[in-house]
Amino acid sequence: MLFVEKGYKLRGWICEHCQQVMQTTSNECPYCHGKISEVDVIEEIIEFAERTDAKIEFTSNVKNLGHVAALLRYK
Ligand SMILES: [Zn+2]
Repeated sequence: MLFVEKGYKLRGWICEHCQQVMQTTSNECPYCHGKISEVDVIEEIIEFAERTDAKIEFTSNVKNLGHVAALLRYK
């Protein structure tokens, strides 16, 4: 279950090689040194959640949790 604050935008970077999403001031991926592109981190998180069948709830009530909150249940 993933809670995302309604309308919240977070600028970040994604590696085109390993798909790692990060916040960095570097111009290459710190993990594999691949090319990175600027993205909206929230959109990436939502896409990731959809790929993994996680439930997403948009709420205006996650500010205390840091804009994005995930309740993860490990199998
Ligand atoms: Zn990478």
